[in-house]
Amino acid sequence: MSGALLLNPEQADRHARVIFYLDNSNQIVFTDRRRLGALWLVENEQPIIGKLGPEPLNPEFKSDILVKRLQKHKAPIKAVLLDQALIAGIGNMYADEALFAARIHPLRKTNSLSPQEIESLHKAIIDVLQSAINSRGASVDTYKRPKGELGTAHSNFCVAHRGGKPCPVCSAPIQRLAIRNRGSYFCPNCQKP
Ligand SMILES: [Zn+2]
Repeated sequence: MSGALLLNPEQADRHARVIFYLDNSNQIVFTDRRRLGALWLVENEQPIIGKLGPEPLNPEFKSDILVKRLQKHKAPIKAVLLDQALIAGIGNMYADEALFAARIHPLRKTNSLSPQEIESLHKAIIDVLQSAINSRGASVDTYKRPKGELGTAHSNFCVAHRGGKPCPVCSAPIQRLAIRNRGSYFCPNCQKP
């Protein structure tokens, strides 16, 4: 995930993609240097939202829903976690953190995961996202809070964006590999293939 929604930024932003001029004279600026964001203007949001998978922090998102959704897929679990049509809202860094917390290698074939592993992953996804919200997001890249402050979730990261640094559990150097063009960080010792 990249980009940010800023409220009344003091300086012009050359990466501003959309500026909303509100009736109360506030401005909301969508800034997105990496151009990964998307915006729809629709009268009926269902055709857009209907394509998204379940929201992990919804109380109805139980581990059996995740088991059912994952068991048909052969692709690497890291790629599947980023598929917003399967589960909504898991960004690249949070997928790395959840896989580390569940001790699952990012290249594991999704349909090779046991129900117990998916149960651990289910818990890890919720914990990682909730903790990131509590820390107001991660500002390793371009993300900022609406008034320009940085989030602090990245200071708790175990593997994401920590290539070469020691694993907090076993001290092995964190490795990085590209999976479907997204950088993926993992501990080669804690997350066996
Ligand atoms: Zn480790």
